[in-house]
Amino acid sequence: MYWDKDIETMDREGLEAFQLARFKKVVKRAKKSAYYGGLFREFGLDVDNISSLDVIKDIPFTTKDDLRAHWPYGLIAVPKDKLIRMHASSGTTGRAIVVFHTAGDIKAWTDVLARCIYMAGMRKTDVFQNMMTYGLFTGGLGFHYAAEKVGALVIPAGAGNSKRQIQLMRDFETTVIHIIPSYALHLSKVFEELKLCPRRDTNLRMAFIGAEPHSEKMRRKIEEIYGFKAYNSYGLSEMNGPGVSFECPCQDGMHIWEDHYFVEIIDPETKKPVSDGENGELVLTSLMREGMPIIRYRTKDLTRIIPGQCECGRTHRRIDRIKGRTDDMMIIKGVNIFPIQIEKKLMEIPGVGNNFVIILEREGYDDYLTVKVEVQNEVFTGDLRPLENLRKRIVDELRADILITPRVNLVEPGSLPSSEGKAVRVIDNRKE
Ligand code: AMP
Ligand code: ZN
Repeated sequence: MYWDKDIETMDREGLEAFQLARFKKVVKRAKKSAYYGGLFREFGLDVDNISSLDVIKDIPFTTKDDLRAHWPYGLIAVPKDKLIRMHASSGTTGRAIVVFHTAGDIKAWTDVLARCIYMAGMRKTDVFQNMMTYGLFTGGLGFHYAAEKVGALVIPAGAGNSKRQIQLMRDFETTVIHIIPSYALHLSKVFEELKLCPRRDTNLRMAFIGAEPHSEKMRRKIEEIYGFKAYNSYGLSEMNGPGVSFECPCQDGMHIWEDHYFVEIIDPETKKPVSDGENGELVLTSLMREGMPIIRYRTKDLTRIIPGQCECGRTHRRIDRIKGRTDDMMIIKGVNIFPIQIEKKLMEIPGVGNNFVIILEREGYDDYLTVKVEVQNEVFTGDLRPLENLRKRIVDELRADILITPRVNLVEPGSLPSSEGKAVRVIDNRKE
């Protein structure tokens, strides 16, 4: 049941000793890059005399802006001929962040992601359909290599083309898929259109879902529609991509692999560490990377450490599902709201369909939040009352949670744009 039992069940003391040894190596390596070389000189970090992991806390954070300012090669710590691969983040704002890998980096990344999918239960007997974009983004090639390493039969389907995806699944008896959660819901509608049922007409038994925030309700909904287990997969390009943190069969938080990543959770305002159990921003230091080591990276992702041990026996700590990003927080009439809060509420209301979008507008000096919600076919009966009741219920339930009164528009199933990649949940029309 373990991919690497010694590592996965290592006691805290052993894990911390391992981290310290790795950290020293990473700092030495990072010093060779233009960016960290300058930073360590400026902050007087004596890389040859690190005796404790506490030193990490004195090193300044690295941010996306720092990566952009030293784009493209400023963080490279090896001669360029040692690099064998480049990836980029899927961010839509500003210049894409690029990350470079040595052969050793690809090997380490593949191994840690193989550990994740093996932990969830994938085996060499599985047929694995990877429905993520191949190319610059990390979900395609990352999972491809890891699934091959486990020995599964890999179908490199790539993203989109829903009918072909379903055809592939049926023709080759796919058992495991890797899919973006919002796309999984979209795909279920295509099954319906084809008069097929994913439970009855496929051999699917497991999915890896990730790349975007999603609520527990949404996961359960996907599991119910497809009749499989869906495991949350978290990662970001700056830290390789998928494989940073992944759910075990207990599905109670994601183990974050502390032999590869040094984990901190900080208050994004004060930048001070918060205690285990408290929410904050995840800060990561890559402990294995050769080509482009990144130290104290502010991920902008909001989560918390789940206190206590996991029943599966793995000792690496767990993080909670991502609540959102510091930069997708909406401030409306002075209230801070995350799109995931709205999703969570909507998923609890019977009659709500598979897609929604939040629109922000400014009228005079006031901000308004409109939620366009797809409803299920059954609600369209020709009688307007059930629709109006549903609309009112959504307004009431959202108001109780987000403390402002949203405008709610109900729309037909399939009428909102769906994305092959990460769902676009917020359209902000307030910018002047
Ligand atoms: P990229 O670098 O393009 O792979 O995007 C990484 C970002 O996607 C992360 O920083 C998160 O904001 C988001 N992300 C990835 N996986 C998850 C997940 N399982 N749950 C929530 N957000 C995720
Ligand atoms: Zn576990």
